[in-house]
Amino acid sequence: MSQTPTRADFDHYMVPNYAPQKAVPVRGEGSRLWDQEGREYIDFAGGIAVNGLGHCHPVLVEALTAQANRLWHLSNVYTNEPALALARSLVERTFADKVYLCSSGGEANEAALKLARRWAHDHHGEHKHRIVSFSQSFHGRTFFTVSVGGQPKYSQGFGPVPGGIVHGHYNDLDSVRNLIDDDTCAVMVEPMQGEGGIIPAAPEFLQGLRDLCDAFDALLIFDEVQTGAGRTGSLYAYQQYGVTPDILTSAKSLGGGFPVGAMLTTDRVAPAMAIGTHGSTYGGNPLASAVALAAVEFIDTPEVLEGVKRRHDLFREHLEAINRQHGVFREIRGMGLLIGAEMAPEYEGRAKDILPLALEEGLMALIAGPNVLRMAPSLVIPEADIAEGMAWLERAVARLVAGQ
Ligand SMILES: *Cc1c(COP(=O)(O)O)cnc(C)c1O
Repeated sequence: MSQTPTRADFDHYMVPNYAPQKAVPVRGEGSRLWDQEGREYIDFAGGIAVNGLGHCHPVLVEALTAQANRLWHLSNVYTNEPALALARSLVERTFADKVYLCSSGGEANEAALKLARRWAHDHHGEHKHRIVSFSQSFHGRTFFTVSVGGQPKYSQGFGPVPGGIVHGHYNDLDSVRNLIDDDTCAVMVEPMQGEGGIIPAAPEFLQGLRDLCDAFDALLIFDEVQTGAGRTGSLYAYQQYGVTPDILTSAKSLGGGFPVGAMLTTDRVAPAMAIGTHGSTYGGNPLASAVALAAVEFIDTPEVLEGVKRRHDLFREHLEAINRQHGVFREIRGMGLLIGAEMAPEYEGRAKDILPLALEEGLMALIAGPNVLRMAPSLVIPEADIAEGMAWLERAVARLVAGQ
């Protein structure tokens, strides 16, 4: 007899590294979700910036089921049509000449960092291995990526961390000038810090990093795992900044909910990843590639990307209206549909307290650190869902202010 799983099963059977909400969603459609009890939710969280086309978008369902009836997996002993089509599509739409496919953001960043180290090793020698990244940055949970990431809580307590990694201050070019030298192989940066609090880079900061990398022959790596695949209103955020990296990583919305990651690079750098230097059993998996190809082709159109910008304005207007009423936010910021509302001093650290209240009202949202309420909804969220979700968020904020 099969029994319906419950939230209590999590505590019985799962390693305790997460603390999931009590509700267990069982079905989704567009920007709506339903839990085991049949309660309806509006989704401003998007699976943490992953469900770029909402839940069960027909274009992605069609791509997945068509591929599921054809071919699931081969390994990299063979190549396959969906992986080749995805790689070509990414190359044609970006600065890149070459693509490496994998299954997550952390894996894409791991590949980017290993490629940078290997490229510098091959062209300059052993000494050129230093990596510059930024405090508060987030690049994944593998041991290399938590070490490069700028949140020590994620790398502490696991023994010695890999060496040669230094952290500058985001949007502070002088801090990088003090760290970068001829031994630097790469600078890794998010064009907008996501987990670190929804902080867009100043254009002159990214351009300055580009110039410093050129001066020291270091590679510029843009981590676009969260900002990529249409999230900021262009296919990749670098396209709006007009600053081109040597390596770019993508995941999250790229698969719309199917696990996939990609590392993009140029013909100058790619050869360092020679046969046998790196790999992944699932990288370029046909199912993942078919879904990602459908997602990229659907998202990279003027209709969808302009829709992201229009929805950005709507989110901002609603959040400003809530703020005029309740005065809880100090600043509303972000790009496209990656939006942060930083709490006012009186509500310091209390963004996290809004989440359970919002969920009781039926709204799923996110935080980026304890002080920033974050939203990363579907890029095609219907305007009616934005209005209704915001009405529910307003009720949650009103309850926070009333001290309930
Ligand atoms: C989420 C995220 C990652 C990690 O991606 P995973 O798929 O969880 O491994 C890396 N970098 C950034 C900027 C992210 O937002």
